[in-house]
Amino acid sequence: MKFYSTKRQAPEVNLKEAVLKSLPADKGLYMPEQIAQMPSSYWEQIGDMTFQEAAYQLVKSLLKDCIPDDKLQQIVYDTLNFEAPLKQLEDNLYCLELFHGPSLAFKDFGARFMARLMSYLVGNQEQTLDILVATSGDTGGAVALGFYNTPNINVTILYPSGKVSMLQEKQLTTLGGNIQALEVNGTFDDCQSLVKQAFLDQDLNDKLLLSSANSINIARLVPQSFYYLRAYQQIKDKSQAIAMCVPSGNFGNITAGIIAKKMGLPIPQFIAANNKNEVFKKYWETGKYEPHPSYQTVSNAMDVGNPSNFQRLMDIYQNDLDAVKKDIWACSFTDEQTIEAIGEIYQKYQYLVCPHTAVAYLGAKAFEKEHSKHQIIFQATAHPSKFIDIVEETTKTKVELPEQLNELIDRKKEAIQLDVDFDKFKNYLLSK
Ligand SMILES: *Cc1c(COP(=O)(O)O)cnc(C)c1O
Repeated sequence: MKFYSTKRQAPEVNLKEAVLKSLPADKGLYMPEQIAQMPSSYWEQIGDMTFQEAAYQLVKSLLKDCIPDDKLQQIVYDTLNFEAPLKQLEDNLYCLELFHGPSLAFKDFGARFMARLMSYLVGNQEQTLDILVATSGDTGGAVALGFYNTPNINVTILYPSGKVSMLQEKQLTTLGGNIQALEVNGTFDDCQSLVKQAFLDQDLNDKLLLSSANSINIARLVPQSFYYLRAYQQIKDKSQAIAMCVPSGNFGNITAGIIAKKMGLPIPQFIAANNKNEVFKKYWETGKYEPHPSYQTVSNAMDVGNPSNFQRLMDIYQNDLDAVKKDIWACSFTDEQTIEAIGEIYQKYQYLVCPHTAVAYLGAKAFEKEHSKHQIIFQATAHPSKFIDIVEETTKTKVELPEQLNELIDRKKEAIQLDVDFDKFKNYLLSK
């Protein structure tokens, strides 16, 4: 399998280059050259497979001939060492819990797979790979935990001092080993520009093998199709149409679902639920795509004013809005509605959700009003404890910390302080 750029101005590349380079030179995004249907027998038998087996069969088809089968199988089996349970709340309403991984958010699927795949891809080289990540909080945690103890790879995480939550900071700074945190005296944008400068610095690139773990990497996209399979496996009555509601920011999650659909996944309807950052919903209504600086909301992992994966969706649907509308229904919600929904879900089902999950629930309910006869699944993309303040305040209930967080609380923070100064950053990287 080769990978092309959605802008089609850069050459096709193999998997190694697509993953290690992340971005093609024309600033498009990499896509697999073919997204072939799985045989119908696969979908008929999927209910009898394990999660790992179903995922492995799918990704083997998507990354055809890129990696030896046994290696790919090992990467998939190692990635999926936690469950994605489907919880039934009503007759036709389900919640797909995607927060049982080490960082308690669905980004673990992408980060764990990418770490293992990158490690395999650099395995035969003498040099270790240096991953640089700038984070405003959540991504860094998934990347740190995903790459922890991965052979041949060192990770340097830059985060803005005082601007991430206590638990997020613990996830970034307490692992040690091959994970190094740099606490930057600046903003997230400062962190990001330091990382960008590093990638452009010839001297650094001559001396180090640099790569990024950002969300547009094809290695993070592909494994996000896995849990769509898991949802389908767990639905008992497969004769009634299924709709899947995805709380969307950068649109990586839903794009992976659409890729699975192109491979034959029998989920006919997708719902893209936005917060106030509703450029996709506006596009869906008017055909005009008008990106804007992001607005801050309570579902902050979805605060994206110019979703990167929009390019991939347009590539899949060849810019045909009618084709988009056949598969995807769009909606958006305010912070007031989101907070109210957290309370409502707790009242109705004694179920605690994070703000992103509440947006997905609202999307499911709005869709239900207009379309009968669907079994609707909404995704819980993060554990409520990651947003403990707002959840406890709204529900007046104590959120129990899962063991992953409990373990972190007592660990000691280790971070190197860094000013917003590229030369200092460069010296640090070269001196390691
Ligand atoms: C990243 C994230 C999202 C948004 O996912 P995209 O793939 O960017 O659309 C939603 N919820 C949570 C908790 C996230 O961390």
